Amino acid sequence: MTPVESFRGETVAVFGLGGSGLSTVKALEVGGAYFAAWDDSETSREAARQQNLTLVDLSQSDFSTYRALILAPGVPLTYPEPHWSVKKAKAAHIPVIGDIELFCRERQRVAPNAPFVAITGTNGKSTTTSLIAHLLASAGRDVALGGNIGTAVLDLPPPSLTRYHVLECSSFQIDLTSSIIPSVGVLLNITPDHLDRHGTMENYASIKERLVASAELSIIGIDDKWCQTIAKRRWEAGRPLITMSLNELQNADYVIKGSLVLKRTGHELKRIIDLSSIATLRGMHNAQNAAAAIAAVSVLGLTDEEIIKGLNTFPGLAHRLEIIGHLGRALVINDSKATNADATEKALLSFSDGLFWIAGGCAKEGGIEPLSPLFTRVEKAYFIGEAAHDFASTLGTNVPFEISETLETALLKAKLDAQASRAKEPVILLSPACASYDQFKNFEERGNQFRKLVQSQSDFMPREKR
Ligand code: ADP
Repeated sequence: MTPVESFRGETVAVFGLGGSGLSTVKALEVGGAYFAAWDDSETSREAARQQNLTLVDLSQSDFSTYRALILAPGVPLTYPEPHWSVKKAKAAHIPVIGDIELFCRERQRVAPNAPFVAITGTNGKSTTTSLIAHLLASAGRDVALGGNIGTAVLDLPPPSLTRYHVLECSSFQIDLTSSIIPSVGVLLNITPDHLDRHGTMENYASIKERLVASAELSIIGIDDKWCQTIAKRRWEAGRPLITMSLNELQNADYVIKGSLVLKRTGHELKRIIDLSSIATLRGMHNAQNAAAAIAAVSVLGLTDEEIIKGLNTFPGLAHRLEIIGHLGRALVINDSKATNADATEKALLSFSDGLFWIAGGCAKEGGIEPLSPLFTRVEKAYFIGEAAHDFASTLGTNVPFEISETLETALLKAKLDAQASRAKEPVILLSPACASYDQFKNFEERGNQFRKLVQSQSDFMPREKR
């Protein structure tokens, strides 16, 4: 745990008692602060009481007695409307901050030069964060990985000169973090997302920019206009900057060309690695994530040999083009995290032959229409859940499909068809392009059930056994 000592002897309000809220309360307590904690949900309050927390109904409190409101990132700060606790904090003129801000203040206090990599972007945050952590750990560094992935930041060990904090930061978290100064700030990309919470693209982009604005060094993907503008501002301000792009003409420091990651040295592009043999980093999107990770750990002093060794042993993340293993000749991939067409596009682009595609669930606006240029890559589709009939009519008559209704039926049919395919290594891909709520609690449950189903087949062969 990282004790929070910056409020020693004072009282703060904590609203939102999920994982990060509970860890905040403990870190404040160990750091000698007093707190008044609350949540709107009785279930969360009960869970907190189970951990011996005494709660205070903040809706009845006078906020001028508190030094700050520590808000959970899931609670609306501005849009569609500030939460009542935020309104009370604003009326009392006290700051509204989150747990990553508390971490940043502690780092500033105890070890301002402690290595700290912060990663954001609309897509690819978790993959890049885990890859950076993996590269550092496999080179023998002491790594603390968390934030928006896995462990809440204040549950991690405290910052120190020999420990590398690698934190995934969502826009909600950055919005609650006013003094973030990472040693390395990574901004992967910015595309429309969470506008219900951020109002406009301008506001969303300016929140993302905050992560790199004060970074000692920033690494920015410059393939969208928002990131290009942010990188330009950094460059004009004379701040250390490394850029990366999928487009060679952008003159970026790192260029992604197919599966190659190239680094510009003078007028030359030097090949760092060919990712085509690393199954856990399939696709151009992962090449961008890999380039960002390579740039970050190079700056932190890893050698090319250490980086290449680490890339080759990256286990990948569950539910994101996760390799489950083989059913007969067919490779089975779990991409349950693909809850919209954009994410499924990345998956379809990552395979070109013998694709047996399982999709469906609660469709997002536009369904799978944006994927139509990629339908020719699909040998057969299997649709499940609420969206099944709509997806079938979008697919049209050129690609064979079945309405399978359930994941199990889809898998069994796909398995049979894949065995009969002429492709050398057919691919059974679950990439739903849909939310999961019609049939599952969340995308993790959907992916876990899929993995279980695959593993229960008599001809299942795990990845490492082949
Ligand atoms: P995040 O944590 O930002 O949600 P993940 O690493 O969990 O990102 O990846 C989620 C999905 O986003 C992936 O399944 C893939 O479809 C897509 N994705 C990953 N990396 C990128 C990238 N660099 N650019 C665009 N899309 C990406």
